[in-house]
This record gives sequence, structure tokens and C-alpha cells, in this order.
Amino acid sequence: MNVEKIIQEIYLQIIEIEDEGQVASYIPELANVDATKFGVHISTIDHLHFGIGHCYDKFSIQSIAKVLSLSLAYKILGEKIWERLGVEPSGTGFNSLVQLEADNGIPRNPFINAGAIVISDILLSNLENPKEDFLAFVRNLSDNSEINYSDKIATSEKIVGYRNAALCHFIKSFGNIQNEPADVLNFYFDLCSLEMNCQELSELFLYLANHGSNVVDNHSILTKSQSKRMNALMQTCGFYDESGEFAFKVGLPGKSGVGGGIIAIHPNQYAIAVWSPKLNKKGNSYKGMRFLEEFTTKTQLSIF
Ligand code: GLU
Repeated sequence: MNVEKIIQEIYLQIIEIEDEGQVASYIPELANVDATKFGVHISTIDHLHFGIGHCYDKFSIQSIAKVLSLSLAYKILGEKIWERLGVEPSGTGFNSLVQLEADNGIPRNPFINAGAIVISDILLSNLENPKEDFLAFVRNLSDNSEINYSDKIATSEKIVGYRNAALCHFIKSFGNIQNEPADVLNFYFDLCSLEMNCQELSELFLYLANHGSNVVDNHSILTKSQSKRMNALMQTCGFYDESGEFAFKVGLPGKSGVGGGIIAIHPNQYAIAVWSPKLNKKGNSYKGMRFLEEFTTKTQLSIF
């Protein structure tokens, strides 16, 4: 099977369709992105690397970073982490407050904002220099020192981050945040502001296609069991309240971000990153989802 050719064909097909999505504008700086950008890059564990379109343009990875912060926190705390948050799909929007009261401040999963804020708190308590140490962890995943935060995006989100502030304070009222909310939120906004391109994303996320180990030198980032669980969480909770739809149409574990990026993993095979900034009503990249649906249908390379 010629995967490059299939990607090219689907790319040319999807670039032509009318984009029914809207660029995220609740973070002012995200609204300035060129909405016509569209990039795809695949990296396989047997060393195929292929990209098309704007796959070398950096963009704001936003919630995709939640997989990386969870990986580091999971590596540090192990299974104890699940005392602070759950592993169930929420069925609510990514920034929803509604379940937290009934659940006594225990977020349903690490990929909704409430859960990622608790993970940020865990990292703050366990890292000496949280911002620097987290960046070093991310850079080390794919030996890529080009990866960085965007202060512009982080500041832009911080100025309007009332809902995340509400989540953080509310969780703290239940005793599930240990640090000062302002510090937790600053760190959360920083990690959401990471910028990468599709090539960097697909290469970096290969560890989750390779049982938690780096594909180049085989060093272990997560245990096999942790890697399995990360994939399970991405499958069930990675696409806000559209996770079922993504499993149904695409059939891969993955994670999206409001910057229009999606990373999807096929354990034992590949990681693929897609970026198109306009989002559907559930907050996932409209063309990104359409592309991946076609890709796993044509190649039959889904996990189901
Ligand atoms: N920084 C964003 C927020 O908290 C992340 C949202 C996302 O990408 O899902 O609203």
C-alpha cells in the first residue's frame, strides 16, 4: 500500500470541500491565525516520514499538550494519580463546570480542562522549575530543542481565562488543588501555549505508538501499561464530547486542541498529525476530522 499517495489524494480532496468550521476566537490571539492553513504529517515506527501542505508551519497545540502533561505526571506519580481524577468520558464540553460539584471536585478525566488543571497542580508540586522542566521533558521526547511556548498566546488566554480560573478555584474549594490557583493557572496557560508543527507532533507522539518508548534510542518514557492506558484515555476522552464520534468515524486514539490540531495514534504502527484551524461545533478541527476519517477508511489502518 502506498500511504504517501493515499495521503496526497485525500489531502487534495479535503482541501476542496467547504470548511463548515469556525476558528476559535475566545482566546483572542487564536483568532489571528490564517484559517486556510491545512497540513498533515505521518511518522511510522518503521521510519516512514511523510508530510503535505502546511505541515512545517508551527501552530498552537493547545489541549494536545494535555497528553504531554499527563505523561509527565503519570511518570512521576504512577497509579496514585488516579486518586485525584477519573478516567471516564465526561460527555460535557471541555470547559464545563457542571459535573464538578456532584463529583466533589474530582474531574472526570485528565483531558477536560478541570482534569488538566489538576494535572498542572500535580506537576507544580513535583517539579523544581515547572515551566522549564516540563519544556525539557517535551523537548526530550523527540530530541527537538526547537519546541517552545508562545508567551503571546499564553498572555492572550490568561487575560480572558475567567472560566479556567473558576474551575481552578472551584476544585480548590474541594481540596483537590494544593498550590495557589494563580500559579496553577499560569502554568496551565503556558503548557497550552506550546507551538509545534505537524511533523514535530507526529514524530514526538510516536512513543505512544511504541509502548511508551522512544523509537530512536528505545529509552522508556512510560511503562507499557501506562502507554496502553494513555491510549485508552485518548480513545475515550480525547475529543471533548465528540470522543464517541471520533472513535466511530476514525477509530484511533487521539487528542485535539482548539488551535485546530489533531494527533492520532495507531499503536504499533504510526502517529499522524493534522492541522486545520476551523473547528466544528464540538471544538474539533472540521477538516482534520474529515481527513482522518477518509485516511483510516481508505488505508484500513484503524485499530478496529
Ligand atoms: N487553553 C485552552 C482552554 O483552556 C485549551 C482548550 C483546548 O484546546 O481544548 O480553553
